[in-house]
Parts: sequence; C-alpha cells; structure tokens
Amino acid sequence: MWITLRHLFMPKYTVEYPEKRRAQAPAFRGAPALVFDETTGKARCVACGICARACPHGAIHVTGVAGTDNKRYVDRYEVEITRCLFCGLCAEACPYKALMMSPVFELAEYRRFSLVYDRACLQGLDEPLGKLEEAEVATGAREAVAVKEVARVR
Ligand code: SF4
Ligand code: SF4
Repeated sequence: MWITLRHLFMPKYTVEYPEKRRAQAPAFRGAPALVFDETTGKARCVACGICARACPHGAIHVTGVAGTDNKRYVDRYEVEITRCLFCGLCAEACPYKALMMSPVFELAEYRRFSLVYDRACLQGLDEPLGKLEEAEVATGAREAVAVKEVARVR
C-alpha cells in the first residue's frame, strides 16, 4: 500500500495510447518504405535487388524492367511484413537511398494477405494490399486475386 501511495505522487511515465503518443526516437525502425521522387512521383528504386539480397529473412521481392531511356525501373516491389524483422539492413544496403525505415508500427491486419505490401502500400503505408471495401469482401473478388498474389510471392 505504501508503494502504491508513493507512486501516486511520482511523475507519470504512461500515456493514454492511442489518443496520446510518445515521440519516437529518431532511429526508430518501423515498416520499410520506398522513397518516391517528390517532383516526378516515381520510385527512386532501380530494382537492383541489393536490398532483397541483404534481407536475412527473404522478405523482399523485387523485379525490374528496362525503360525506353535504357534506365532500369522497378516493376514489382513487395515486402512480406510478417517476415520482416525491422532490422533495417535493407535500407542500409540500398545504394540509391530508395528505401527507408518508416515510423509506422501499427501494422495489425485481419487478413494475412493484407500483410504483403506492394509498391503502392510502401509509398503511403496506409493502404496495405488487399484492404477491402465491404462490398468487395462480400463478392470475394479482390480477395481471390490477393490470395493468388500471395501464393505467387511464396
Ligand atoms: S530499394 Fe534500393 S537496393 Fe532495393 S532494389 Fe531498389 S534501388 Fe536496389
Ligand atoms: S527490415 Fe530487415 S527483415 Fe525487414 S525487409 Fe528489411 S532487411 Fe528484411
């Protein structure tokens, strides 16, 4: 009882999450995110695959295409976030600074296939693949496509 009473008058270290949040440390590592050029809107990634090779868990899948200007562009970039260790090795390995560790850490989803992030998801990190509208859940159309997508990745 004495300990409880003593703590009543001590400074509080807890916050009412999620209404209130503590500031994140500058080096906090959340989900990996692709970096997009602000002017052109294109991904900086050139699909060299170094990040995929640096990933100790094989969570990154990347393929590229050659553009008409003889430059290489990313075609498919996916991160299986359930396999990600948030180690940051992929971001460190990228020679083009095209990948960063975002501050996003609230990654819970109801469906497993929603945890495979494609290029669009990695841009905003707020619309994971397969986030379905209610009507689409009813028809199951997009769900089937997303399940196939996950099978292709595995
Ligand atoms: S994110 Fe960087 S390391 Fe990974 S494929 Fe793109 S350019 Fe290469
Ligand atoms: S943070 Fe680590 S585990 Fe996650 S994708 Fe990058 S290298 Fe792989």
